[in-house]
Amino acid sequence: MSALTILRTYAQKADPASIPSSVLFEHTAKSITIIDAYPKSRFHFLILPRASAYPPLTVSNLANLRSLLKCDKDRAKEVLTDLSEDAKRIRTCIEEEMVKRFGFKWAIWTGFHSVPSMEHLHLHVISADLCSPSMKVKKHYNSFHPKLGFFLSLDDVLSWFDATPSYFQTVSQLKKTEYEPYLKEDLSCFHCSESFKNMPKLKEHLQEEWNKMSKREKSKLERKRKRETEENENTNSNAENDPVPPLKKPEQEEDLSTK
Ligand SMILES: [Zn+2]
Ligand SMILES: [Zn+2]
Repeated sequence: MSALTILRTYAQKADPASIPSSVLFEHTAKSITIIDAYPKSRFHFLILPRASAYPPLTVSNLANLRSLLKCDKDRAKEVLTDLSEDAKRIRTCIEEEMVKRFGFKWAIWTGFHSVPSMEHLHLHVISADLCSPSMKVKKHYNSFHPKLGFFLSLDDVLSWFDATPSYFQTVSQLKKTEYEPYLKEDLSCFHCSESFKNMPKLKEHLQEEWNKMSKREKSKLERKRKRETEENENTNSNAENDPVPPLKKPEQEEDLSTK
């Protein structure tokens, strides 16, 4: 099996349960969610529409976003809306896992590569850190940089359907010549825009950014927990706030003072 077409092979499986469990995360009647073999972030999943789930769309109609957007608009939108529903569920799973493993949760991006490197439409659901040993070259990094333009958020793509037909016509062409240059742009941190000369330097910085985020979020949680404990204590000792003190209270205090 070629690496280029492996996703299509998965999408065409009549029985997705036959996909190795190290690869398959879950499947529904219409989609397959797999764990990216070369994750570019701490969490990285791909959601694929199943090849025969959207007749009359064929596997070649589902080859990529560009081919899908050339099909019947309503059917194309249905595919994307279904993927969006699946992505919501996957994001919830990821968030639970983030809290379990790291003690806090952070943003998750959901979108497509404008020029995909593998056959068959696949939606990336990827945690917003880009910290991973498989993140090796500039092309990888720029392909997920959320502000660059190569990565298309699913919400943006869905908004094209509400735009004028001529706008839809233009953007849905996803011209390689327009998008590929983004991959060659200089490296810059997606958090703070600082630029970097090479990947090792950038990766080190991304790790620091993540550490900062982790600290910040955890202390936020800590403050929230404290506030909640205080509020609980206040409601438990509500008596103190009552304008008319209950009769028993002074007695209790006297009891205490005599001990
Ligand atoms: Zn991809
Ligand atoms: Zn930064």
